[in-house]
Amino acid sequence: MGFPIFSSDTVFLFKVDMDIENNKSYKPDWTPDNHGDEFAIRIVKGVENRPENLRQKSFKRKEFTTEELVNGVLEGNRILLAKTITLIESTSQNHQLRAKEVLTQLLPHSGKSLRIGISGVPGAGKSTLIEALGVYLINLGHKVAVLTIDPSSSISKGSILGDKTRMEKLSKDENCFIRPSPSSGTLGGVARKTRESITACEAAGYNIILIETVGVGQSETTVRSMVDFFLLVLISGGGDELQGMKKGVMEICDAILINKADGENKRKALMAKAEFSSALHYLYPSTEGWESKAYTASAITGEGIEELWTEMLKFEEITKTSGVFERRRRLQNIEWVEFMIKDYLFDSFFGNKQISAQFTELKEKLLNGEILPSAAFDLLKETYFKLK
Ligand code: GDP
Repeated sequence: MGFPIFSSDTVFLFKVDMDIENNKSYKPDWTPDNHGDEFAIRIVKGVENRPENLRQKSFKRKEFTTEELVNGVLEGNRILLAKTITLIESTSQNHQLRAKEVLTQLLPHSGKSLRIGISGVPGAGKSTLIEALGVYLINLGHKVAVLTIDPSSSISKGSILGDKTRMEKLSKDENCFIRPSPSSGTLGGVARKTRESITACEAAGYNIILIETVGVGQSETTVRSMVDFFLLVLISGGGDELQGMKKGVMEICDAILINKADGENKRKALMAKAEFSSALHYLYPSTEGWESKAYTASAITGEGIEELWTEMLKFEEITKTSGVFERRRRLQNIEWVEFMIKDYLFDSFFGNKQISAQFTELKEKLLNGEILPSAAFDLLKETYFKLK
């Protein structure tokens, strides 16, 4: 049995023969690395040059113009939205300029969404919840975009959020757009790209933006600074729920959801809800005029999802009426500029070869206790300003 496989400029004929016993002397042109005895496929290298009539136009990468991207996004074309976000995420200066042109034209069409941040430790059930909530919202007629901020991808180049098959039902729905976290850059840089991606998604007609992050380090405050409503997803542990819970995170959330409130776990989840509700009651509210409360839900059975959404709608109505919603968005724009400045300065400082060489030397001295941290900082600062 033989069948052709087309690559960009070569046609390979892969010849498959399950009966290798009779042909022991046969040596394949190629075998996979680490193949075992079960490998029963012979591969014969095929024609080197692909015939003209087999060349496929679709392999050529098309560069879209700014106008094509803007119109495509405004028409809700998901492929062009994805291409626009790729431009936003690109580190090439040329792409950055193009992204800016596209975003400038999209900006007047953005802003009309409810931006919801969802955070929690790995395993709390965030992606299962986003799938359940997303499908529920789409059935109500909404268009849902899911963006993720994965701090692990910028710190360790690994990924806590991205390396599993997630949100399968949701990702197949045409009213949903899912984009994983940009895979490189500082948290500030990743956050800038996500903010710009929000603008693009809104211009494409997505009226609910879900931004997922894991509860480590600075990522929660970063997400808080770009959303209207911030939800913390927890699971009950059966013991003293508040133990080990960072007060700071509770202070920035608009609701706590105790997930996995199903089966035998339900009772414990309800107890945790009561405990968190009373703790939240004594904290300064995250959003003026809104009392943050704890809720229970099961992302698997769907119980509690409707109630959660009703609370989010109530939040939107109350804060829009009081003006808090709009005021927060304006303040977030100021914060956004501050983020960009910090990110720029960080890059300009550590991106400088002289500074990084000097810092390497100073680190050695710091480790040996030969210099004070403030003195090391002064030296680096001096070098930096001399360079400017
Ligand atoms: P994430 O790391 O926070 O995104 O968590 P996942 O959504 O991947 O869920 C982690 C595990 O918890 C998976 O095995 C889910 O099936 C399970 N899970 C998520 N939500 C629920 C729930 O509401 N009830 C139960 N029983 N299991 C859940």
